[in-house]
Amino acid sequence: MPTLAARMDRLGTETAFDVLAKANKLAAGGADMINLGIGQPDFPTPPHIVEAAAKALKDGHHGYTAANGIPALRQAVSADLARRHGVEVDPDRVVVVPGGKVTMFFAMLMFGEPGAEIIYPDPGFPIYRSSIEFSGATAVPLPLREENGFAFSAEELLSLITPRTRLIIVNSPANPTGGVTPVEEMDKLAAGLANHPDVAILSDEIYSCMLYGGRQHRSILQYPHLADRAIMLDGWSKTYAMTGWRLGYAVWPESLVEKATRLAINDHSCVNAAAQFAGIAALEGPQDAALDMVAAFDERRQATVVALNGLPGVRCVDPGGAFYAFPNISGTGLDARTLQDRLLNEAHVAAIAGTSFGVHGEGYLRISYANSKENILRAIDRIGSVLAG
Ligand code: PLP
Repeated sequence: MPTLAARMDRLGTETAFDVLAKANKLAAGGADMINLGIGQPDFPTPPHIVEAAAKALKDGHHGYTAANGIPALRQAVSADLARRHGVEVDPDRVVVVPGGKVTMFFAMLMFGEPGAEIIYPDPGFPIYRSSIEFSGATAVPLPLREENGFAFSAEELLSLITPRTRLIIVNSPANPTGGVTPVEEMDKLAAGLANHPDVAILSDEIYSCMLYGGRQHRSILQYPHLADRAIMLDGWSKTYAMTGWRLGYAVWPESLVEKATRLAINDHSCVNAAAQFAGIAALEGPQDAALDMVAAFDERRQATVVALNGLPGVRCVDPGGAFYAFPNISGTGLDARTLQDRLLNEAHVAAIAGTSFGVHGEGYLRISYANSKENILRAIDRIGSVLAG
């Protein structure tokens, strides 16, 4: 056996992919599976974006690009940030990478090492904890609570900061809960961070275009006093239904741009050129398809919440963003993992146990409503049958 580095034992994974593999196996065996497990839009990428990539290939864009992304794309990102968040960002602070996840990994490589602490949301996207632990740093969970609509509490987050804290991670709208942190809470966090000038912030805003019920998004970029230590992660995967294209970006503090670019050069050289041209078309072209997708998600969201609240032993708060509901299932008498497995095997419904997103996810299930309303309601009906039996 080859001898591996010890850090390989600390690398976690996303159980959503395991559930997907099991669901696919059951479907291959003839089961009528309904997948509410997957974290990606069920819509195709809008045609004008696909066309732009095809054109780029026909026009001969087949080689490496600048490691931080082609200038026209970084300018398009900067213009989009001005439009959406009312901020002026120098395109040279934008580093384009193959998907949102890459920025996370870069941040952990920059800040994580034994002895350092990094605070992350729990329940939260599983790669946060996995990549923190891989870096050797100590992962410090910030509990997110149902009674706050799964928004984080700035006071609680600030209370977890110690002299060893290097980085804090926030995510709104959030995976897996759909929770949206109110603007006032972000303001409180930003004000409190003024007392911790050595702590960096990674704000994962990948779902910032998916907000419902008049909720507002406050970007970390809107706090000028944090500009020298805030990293804003965003990308195309969710907003433009482009998960398979592998295209994301971050706005880095000026002092870290060269370091992020150096990591890109060591890791992947650049994002493939055609995907970058598609990214320009997405940001500069018509937004109707993206807006229609959000409207469809909103309709399904409302139907999902009503149906879930009708199940025995289940209650579900109104998710304000993304495309997930996070019902409390503790009244069913089943733990999250048992319910996940029973739904998969008995009802042929794929949904993810809350514990896949951290210890504070016990008692919850993640339902992705990136599926047709008809399928969602059929699935929830089947969940009801399992709970009744
Ligand atoms: N951040 C969050 C909170 C996510 O849920 C995801 C994907 O599920 C990502 C980042 C990663 O996105 P990408 O597919 O662009 O790497």
